[in-house]
Amino acid sequence: MGDALHLAASQVVTPDGVLRDTIVEIDGDAIAALRPARGAVPERTLVPGFVDLQVNGIGAIDVATADGGDWDELDQLLLAQGVTAWCPTLVTAPLERYGPALDRIAAATRRPVRGGPFIAGAHLEGPFLGGAPGAHRRELLRAIDLAWLGALPPIVRIVTLAPELAGACDAVAALSRRGIVVSLGHSIADVEQTRAAVDAGARMATHVFNGMGPFHHREPGIAGVVLTDDRVVSGVIADLVHLHPVALALVFRAKARRVALVTDAVAWPDPAAGVASLPDGTLAGATTTMDQAVRHLVHRAGVPLADAVHAAATAPADLLGLRERGRIAPGARADLVALDAGLGVEQVWVGGHAVGA
Ligand code: ZN
Repeated sequence: MGDALHLAASQVVTPDGVLRDTIVEIDGDAIAALRPARGAVPERTLVPGFVDLQVNGIGAIDVATADGGDWDELDQLLLAQGVTAWCPTLVTAPLERYGPALDRIAAATRRPVRGGPFIAGAHLEGPFLGGAPGAHRRELLRAIDLAWLGALPPIVRIVTLAPELAGACDAVAALSRRGIVVSLGHSIADVEQTRAAVDAGARMATHVFNGMGPFHHREPGIAGVVLTDDRVVSGVIADLVHLHPVALALVFRAKARRVALVTDAVAWPDPAAGVASLPDGTLAGATTTMDQAVRHLVHRAGVPLADAVHAAATAPADLLGLRERGRIAPGARADLVALDAGLGVEQVWVGGHAVGA
């Protein structure tokens, strides 16, 4: 018994490109079909709900301490930016802090919420980081601990670690065998160390260029490898502070459909500042939203809309093995966002239910 819903739009972004004047037929919580519209259609762009693999916090709420109603508030903040699936991300902390924080994330996934964004799992960014820790507290960085990693609960879906650490390849292989995505980052690994980690199963790079040794044409290092190896999906922060628009354009020229747009959003007392930085100027995460980031890619970096949407939805969903999410296609979940002519969020649907914006 399905409630049929037909959404017409002047543009519909699919993994195969942008369709003009199209109707998306929804039956229950899934997309049933796409067909050409006859007659006038609303001037809007339908895109799949965005999937953000790296969110440390939003507004006043840090995911490391979020509890109870904080999660409902995060749901609303995420939906307002078109995000329908995400990974709460824990930065480097003392080892004993992770267990309780992961328990709270797991509890958040069990809330009886209808129409909230899907928590795809936790992303651990650290504590096994290398020579480019950025804003992570250096005194808390650790040598790789295979026993600790082996005991991680199933809520963990992504681990960012540095390939130059002793035992990195063993950690990558062990985590990958469990279906956990290993992302390479906060690292000054050289080409050989990075390639070895990718050969061992690493499939993502954390915010490429940021928290990495610099790209040099004679020593291309981790940045050079992750930009040229198609096995790796490169995370990018598109707040226009972490990366110049030219660097964003370069990443998409190199990777096109192997980019995952992340906000790297952090809880910060003054989100209006636009960027979160430590007193010494070190960038400590971003305060840009996912929809703003998509606009930056298209309007400032010249990235084709279809590639920007792929990076904001399809590539991250695929990386997590969520084949029913992150795309507008028959059979996919009806997690959709309507964007206006300026690519602002107009309306959001989760599992076929309109949740507003
Ligand atoms: Zn980081």
